[in-house]
Amino acid sequence: MQEQLIALLGHPVHHSKSPQMQNAAFQSLGLPYHYMAFDVLPSQLKEAVEGLRALGFHGANVTIPHKIPIIPFLDALTPLAKAIGAVNTLYFENDRLIGDNTDGQGYLASLSHEFPHVDPKMMTVGIVGAGGAARAIAFTLAQYGVRKLYITNRHDQKAEELVAGLQAWTAAEVVSMDTFQNVMPQLQLLIHSTPVGMSPNVDESVIPNAWLHSDLIVSDLIYNPNETKLLREAKERGASIHNGIGMLVHQGALSFERWTGRKAPIDFMKVELLNRLYT
Ligand code: NAP
Repeated sequence: MQEQLIALLGHPVHHSKSPQMQNAAFQSLGLPYHYMAFDVLPSQLKEAVEGLRALGFHGANVTIPHKIPIIPFLDALTPLAKAIGAVNTLYFENDRLIGDNTDGQGYLASLSHEFPHVDPKMMTVGIVGAGGAARAIAFTLAQYGVRKLYITNRHDQKAEELVAGLQAWTAAEVVSMDTFQNVMPQLQLLIHSTPVGMSPNVDESVIPNAWLHSDLIVSDLIYNPNETKLLREAKERGASIHNGIGMLVHQGALSFERWTGRKAPIDFMKVELLNRLYT
């Protein structure tokens, strides 16, 4: 089989660990694929997509800031990517370039992997943030059929737009940051999806310690540090915790499976990623 090329399109991309993680996974299964990161200026995005087609690339990942602006240059979107309004994975189907989004599915797969006895369908979920990652997770959970979603965001309008889209699938409500405390006792799952608490600002958290309780699973999408202030405080209050590493691995594994048609070596990918991130 001829070598198949996979691109990562982003700006900047030098910090990404996806090339090492994906190439190690391809090699571990003896697959003739090669993954390369390309720093693409927003003004060059259309040409970059044409380049993927002209050079016979097999697929791609798309990262910040191209996840939304790339959509007009694609031939179609999966229904989930269309609902989310952003893509992170591209693949060809009969020469048509299709955009998919594995971020939310990666989150859900990671949650199920780390909490196998928990059924998200039974959960009332709070999401802090309404950016790209929050949108991907909210639509995935809504389509999966969680009981109810409460969304809070620094700017209410973005939360309102998100909730308007979610209501086709499940009960969803906007809550202001000021009153989010009132819904906390109803939640079984709290998902933090803002950059607050990310290195180097590791002493910050948007959720006051006193709001946390022991019936919660607290997910923080941040993976640097691997235990944020929010997760540390949640653990102290008796909650279960879930950091962003699993989502990072599983969204990559789902892209891998989309391109290769093979089951991804998830545990191996996680070890590769941890070695690159924390050593
Ligand atoms: P994004 O699209 O830029 O959205 C950022 C969100 O954070 C918005 O809701 C924004 O609120 C909010 N926010 C930003 N600064 C804030 C502050 N100082 N106080 C309160 N809210 C603030 O980013 P994203 O892609 O959704 O990423 C969100 C987080 O998830 C980041 O930490 C990112 O590293 C992480 N992430 C992890 C993975 C993974 O695989 N583990 C994948 C994707 C993202 P406004 O709308 O009011 O501006």
